[in-house]
Amino acid sequence: MKLLLVEDEKNFAYCLKDELKKDYLIDLAFSGEEAEYKTAEYTYDGVILDIGLPDIDGIRLCKKFRNNNIYMPIIMLTGEENISKKVEALDSGADDYMVKPFHIEELSARLRVLLRRNSQKLKSNVLLIGDVSLDIVTRKVTRADKNIILQKKEFQLLEYLMRNAGKLLTRNMILDHVWDSNVEALTNIVDVHIKYLRDKIDKPFHKKYIKTIYGLGYKMETAKT
Ligand code: CA
Repeated sequence: MKLLLVEDEKNFAYCLKDELKKDYLIDLAFSGEEAEYKTAEYTYDGVILDIGLPDIDGIRLCKKFRNNNIYMPIIMLTGEENISKKVEALDSGADDYMVKPFHIEELSARLRVLLRRNSQKLKSNVLLIGDVSLDIVTRKVTRADKNIILQKKEFQLLEYLMRNAGKLLTRNMILDHVWDSNVEALTNIVDVHIKYLRDKIDKPFHKKYIKTIYGLGYKMETAKT
């Protein structure tokens, strides 16, 4: 899952990124303009948006996103414990808000709720396809009740495949969601990691879940097919 963190206080932004990068890919934007550019250029699963930005108010920016039919979950950060600000934030189209200072655990939990709401496949913190299970909080992955140890990228790749099971995912879509926007799009980076993942998830088992759609990309089979 890839999130955009929009925050002009760089130290705070880097701190927050450091905490969140365990669970998410985080792109940073230090101004409203940069945020607008990045949301137009890349795909994000969610946005953490600070209200106090140097060039545009976070509330105006949020309205702009919604007016442009950009619907990813947005959680706003406000500096003031002020009811009218919170109401304004929610009315502008934000899904939630946090008042600074906050505990990172609370932000993480709220992010999980928002991202879960946005994903039909995920009713709890566990994604389940056939005998493959992936817990997004404990990061435990099992197949047929056997523990499977995945590297970070393999985990993120499997999570993306499972959230979109049954859908064709092109290499570009996978790159967009699983790799940092700064990463040079090496043409075979996706294929290489699909191979690592297959070696662990599919190879030791009879049923293969990760299908190659020749010339197009990959698809995680749903349990029934
Ligand atoms: Ca700020």
